[in-house]
Amino acid sequence: MYLHGTSKINAKGHLEIGGCDVTDLAKEFGTPLYIVDEALVRGRAQEFMSAFRQTGLRFQVAYASKAFCVMAMCRVAEEEGMSLDVVSDGELYTALKAGFPADRIHFHGNNKTPEEINMALDANIGCFVVDNFNELHLLNALAADKGKTVNVLLRITPGVEAHTHDYISTGQQDSKFGFDLGNGTAFRAVETTLGLANLNILGVHSHIGSQIFEVEGFRMAVEKVAAFAVEIREKLGRTFTVLNLGGGYGIRYVEGDKPLPLGVYVNAIADAVKSVCADANFPLPEVWIEPGRSIVGDAGTTLYTVGTSKDIPGVRKYIAVDGGMTDNPRPALYESKYEAVLANRANDSLEEVVSVAGKCCESGDMLIWDLNLPKVESGDLLAVFCTGAYNYAMASNYNRIRRPAVVFVKDGQADLVVARESYDNIVGNDLLPARLRKEPVSK
Ligand SMILES: *Cc1c(COP(=O)(O)O)cnc(C)c1O
Repeated sequence: MYLHGTSKINAKGHLEIGGCDVTDLAKEFGTPLYIVDEALVRGRAQEFMSAFRQTGLRFQVAYASKAFCVMAMCRVAEEEGMSLDVVSDGELYTALKAGFPADRIHFHGNNKTPEEINMALDANIGCFVVDNFNELHLLNALAADKGKTVNVLLRITPGVEAHTHDYISTGQQDSKFGFDLGNGTAFRAVETTLGLANLNILGVHSHIGSQIFEVEGFRMAVEKVAAFAVEIREKLGRTFTVLNLGGGYGIRYVEGDKPLPLGVYVNAIADAVKSVCADANFPLPEVWIEPGRSIVGDAGTTLYTVGTSKDIPGVRKYIAVDGGMTDNPRPALYESKYEAVLANRANDSLEEVVSVAGKCCESGDMLIWDLNLPKVESGDLLAVFCTGAYNYAMASNYNRIRRPAVVFVKDGQADLVVARESYDNIVGNDLLPARLRKEPVSK
């Protein structure tokens, strides 16, 4: 059994995270429950920050909030000295509401609406990562309306393909994101930007994919991006001061996933930047990165209660939990794999192989296939590991299932940071036009 961060099995044979016995958490907060190991989140942030400090480069580590964006997480990101990426008005609103410093917020996205751009302009965010020509002109016009000049990075597609799942790789040429480097579009985009009076171009951005376990792709991206910066300096006389290498640092979900220590990615990027700049006699830029999954992914655990089971002799045994694709759509979306333990009997010997089904009306609503567990009984608690990233963030109300609560645990203390949704939340935005209304059934 692989345990992440502060997770351990206590004397009662119960899973404990952040000094909290999860069977107590289940009693106090109910299930399903997202449990976040706050010390592990902070530790991951510190790994990136201290690795960068040792490189001597100027840097920003921007937490890609889309992985898990709630106000408490924004506070932790700020306390750890990180900047913050947002990709929508909702994420921006969350960050601002949490008091995150606007000048450390970077706004991403391939289709920012005028409303979103205006909201970000009004908040005086630090930087827009511009994705396409429409946005360049729109942003310039809206900034001009407000008499502002805004910092921009241009997102470029460097043509580096990370070894990862097709659906989450974005660095290759055929991508909905960014200005293509190889065919000259990125160059034209810089020219265009330099002609727009209300935009101040700091540099370029590239994001080559997600859940990447090797440094080679990042090195190649640095080389392409830095070579581009050199070309821009030569041909357009503009010297970029920021290179943003994006996120995508892999984590261990299951046996066989071999993530590198975070400092190894940082050093590979820093070394490549230093060497290309030295060769080209280019002033060292500030280096930005944008980890999401690697900050919060392995710090999250989802706790479920086992309900029913279905044994098909000679075929398979299903057990069903009180959540599923509504709180974790990744297995259905990406065929993602997870590990899990019986959290209330974690020391019991493994006796059966079961497949874990969710409770949604979809045959595809399966969380884990072929999991070794002790003999499972209704009422047992199942803890699924590594659910900190892209789980709560991607949760839905399919089947009108209420989204679970989220607790941060640390040093034996559990703090609710997102309440479980109520039935009123479920119907809260529903409206009944007069012609569909019924007399109240009871008073
Ligand atoms: C999703 C994304 C990230 C974060 O990716 P992780 O795999 O979670 O580290 C960073 N930058 C951009 C532009 C992204 O789209």
